[in-house]
Amino acid sequence: MNTDLDRLGDEIAELSAHLDAATAHLLDLIREFDERGGWNTGFRSCAAWLAWRVGLAPGVAREKVRVARTLGTLPRLAQALARGELSYSKIRELTRVATPETEERLLAVGRAGTAEHVERIVRGWRRVDRIAEARETVRRHAGRTLQVYPDGDGMVIVRGRLEPEVGAVLVQALAAAREALYQKADENVPAGTCGDVSAETPALAQPTMPQQQADALALLAETALHHGIDPGAPAERYQVVVHVDAPVLADADAPGQSVLGDGARVPAGTSQRLACDASRVIMRHDPDGRVTEVGARTRTIPSALRRALHHRDRGCRFPGCGVRFGQGHHIRHWAHGGPTTLSNLALLCRRHHRAVHEEGYQMERQPNGELSFRRPDGRLLPEVPPAAPVPADSVGALRARHETQGLRIHARTASCGWLGERLDVGWAIDVLHPLAARN
Ligand SMILES: [Zn+2]
Ligand SMILES: [Zn+2]
Repeated sequence: MNTDLDRLGDEIAELSAHLDAATAHLLDLIREFDERGGWNTGFRSCAAWLAWRVGLAPGVAREKVRVARTLGTLPRLAQALARGELSYSKIRELTRVATPETEERLLAVGRAGTAEHVERIVRGWRRVDRIAEARETVRRHAGRTLQVYPDGDGMVIVRGRLEPEVGAVLVQALAAAREALYQKADENVPAGTCGDVSAETPALAQPTMPQQQADALALLAETALHHGIDPGAPAERYQVVVHVDAPVLADADAPGQSVLGDGARVPAGTSQRLACDASRVIMRHDPDGRVTEVGARTRTIPSALRRALHHRDRGCRFPGCGVRFGQGHHIRHWAHGGPTTLSNLALLCRRHHRAVHEEGYQMERQPNGELSFRRPDGRLLPEVPPAAPVPADSVGALRARHETQGLRIHARTASCGWLGERLDVGWAIDVLHPLAARN
């Protein structure tokens, strides 16, 4: 009886190690699929694709992708999993904190302790990381500086050190100002005359990049003073207005325009998407372009209908998505005469609304009310893909494959070195963490 149960326990331990080794291979495949963008066929991310194709819960799928990516930089931990020596549970915890620098030490933690020990050490490790990070942030913030002072010849010198996010805003603003100054100037010069002008008047040659940056900074300063140094509400900063001619909404190839508020052209598909679920104001123009009549502002989808749509669809209807917040999509666009009714509407998230208007994905409602989706090449995108075939003796197949790979896995492969002594997490972190000694 006892030897019988021992054998059963050994079998569980051995098969678990085999599964961990197979998981390592699975993570390798996921990493390659992710890096090569294999999921980028209408899915929001590699995790969303995994959830759809393999049937993983979204959180589990995200975790798999995270571990797969991290293991790409941690060859020792990856190898320990591939040999069935460390369980996936331990690897998952260790990859939260391991870096190439600390990998070796954390591998030893994984070998010595139980999964629970590993979890507690990783928690303590993250605390030390967070303290170090907070200290770094404080140091950076204290180190911010900007000095503006006159040079001997009357020029003004600007020197500074900015925190990363402030620097990013400055770089973006300088780029926008430079574009406003120089892109527009380029457009005003008729093609073909540029060479002659610069040949005759070399003083007007295109400024160098540092000169352009200086001009951009001047424009930023003038603009800020002009607008009373008001950063504005986020919604105003990112507001986009589209002006679109009625025929373009109905037919992307129709003559007519589709432009943003600042005059930049946008593809007709984009304006159709924005018009699908929006407030609209109809303006009529006379032949000279003067507005002769402005209609009342109406919503393309009335709020009662929108509530019904949310209640029915509950989230994005694109296969494998299900994001809760969505936009109402007219399956047949209202500009084509499609009615604004429940049966002609479907909820799509922002990503997938783009997919159907601008990336060639097609959707239609079947006579039985079900939605069907097609890829741009016309292939059907099933709601739930068929399961992959599995050999009748899947365990035997797994064992055989590991044997041909030269893997020797047995009931003690994943055993840890713990003999029952008490774990002192604080002491372990002090000894192991590269930054702990300085605390
Ligand atoms: Zn739409
Ligand atoms: Zn979606």
